[in-house]
Amino acid sequence: MGDILIKNGFIATIDKDRTVYKSGDMYIDDGKIVSIGKDVKAPRSPEYTMDAKNKVVMPGFVNVHTHLQQYFRGVYELIGDFYKVNLPLEGYRRPEDMEWLGLASCAEFIHGGSTTAMMIYTYPDGFAKAVEEAGNRMIIGADIEEVDLNRLKEGVYDYLPEKGEAAYKRAVDLHRNWHGKGLITTIMAPKAADLAVTETYLRCKEYAEEHGLNVTTHLSQSWREVQQVERLYGKTPPQHLHDLGILDEKLTGAHCTYATERDTQMIVESGMGILHCRSVRNPLTRWMDLGIPVGLGTDDYFHDMLQLLRENIAGQAARARAVGGSLGMLAGNRLTRRPSFYELLELATRKGAEVLGIDEKVGSLEEGKRADLILIDMLNPFLTPTKDPLTSIVLYGTSSDIDTVIVDGRILKRDGALTTINTAEALLRGQERVEEIIERFFEENPEQRKNWHKMVPYME
Ligand SMILES: [Zn+2]
Repeated sequence: MGDILIKNGFIATIDKDRTVYKSGDMYIDDGKIVSIGKDVKAPRSPEYTMDAKNKVVMPGFVNVHTHLQQYFRGVYELIGDFYKVNLPLEGYRRPEDMEWLGLASCAEFIHGGSTTAMMIYTYPDGFAKAVEEAGNRMIIGADIEEVDLNRLKEGVYDYLPEKGEAAYKRAVDLHRNWHGKGLITTIMAPKAADLAVTETYLRCKEYAEEHGLNVTTHLSQSWREVQQVERLYGKTPPQHLHDLGILDEKLTGAHCTYATERDTQMIVESGMGILHCRSVRNPLTRWMDLGIPVGLGTDDYFHDMLQLLRENIAGQAARARAVGGSLGMLAGNRLTRRPSFYELLELATRKGAEVLGIDEKVGSLEEGKRADLILIDMLNPFLTPTKDPLTSIVLYGTSSDIDTVIVDGRILKRDGALTTINTAEALLRGQERVEEIIERFFEENPEQRKNWHKMVPYME
């Protein structure tokens, strides 16, 4: 891995002091930021020198909650029912599909500047192989879900212990085989309190403690989950996990959309983090103001953090209007405060690293941290002229404006092209796998073929 000198960039460190160098330099060696500031000199002639004039240099995005779900694109948006389409379709994936889909997914992460992402997936082994090849930083979890997905679409929860056992074994194998390999670390990931049983949560917690891992889960994501947990345990999902001793600073929960006021207080006291994706219902700024660690995750069919920022701007503005109205805004009501553009950038970088517990390594550009960063070309008509480059990026930037992506000091995207992945091959092979997954689904659900025909315009 060669050393890199970056010269004359607009460096937004996103550190706690919000330090910016309008014309700054950075020297990277051995995967680490050695020096940053004005007139930085390399101790020797560097392997790569990058002129960053008219470029913004900032930390890579930390995408805190994702799944491999490309096969839902053009399906779920048209047919759309989480329990009738998403979950049943997941039952038709096979482990061997995952390497190509994984590589297609890594291509998306890297193109979009997500230098770190957390990926929760059923067959993570193939995905981990893809990550090793692609070179991005990943926290991977094997999701443990143990209900019969075909019955669930009829609203019936049928728990299958052998399915849970197999999933738990995949999680343990993932940890044994991949944790610490390259830039991969692992996490325990029982899927949700309605989809995994109490014993599974306890086992995951015990394994995590024994091996120094964190735990992540979907928490109060859907009304159906809340109702099922109430039926089973007479509690809300956060209360249930609290009583199991799992609600602590080692836990992150995705969504928390249906958390009650009492749940929220419990979350504050526990120190756990929330992985917020796009829900308009979520009181994002209230969580932030209460001191809950929060990060942003794309969650579903796209992994573009810039798009996610804009969805959050629109979503939180709509929420502020619906919940607070103009009176709420005038009173500075903390329930309805909109996040600033800069706060969103922080959530997508440093705060995301904090919620995942990796902020000592990544999330901001500071001496001693690992060199995970992106360069955004401002010399394009979508971003310039502007008085504030960071506002321009949040409001108008796209992944194609990101011309360079560096992870752990290694250049994974340069001049707009990926260096470790053959993008066209990864996408075409991924597409073949998607067709196969859907075909398997149709073979066992022939009535769906007709349904889909009516709704997906280009289906053969
Ligand atoms: Zn999710």
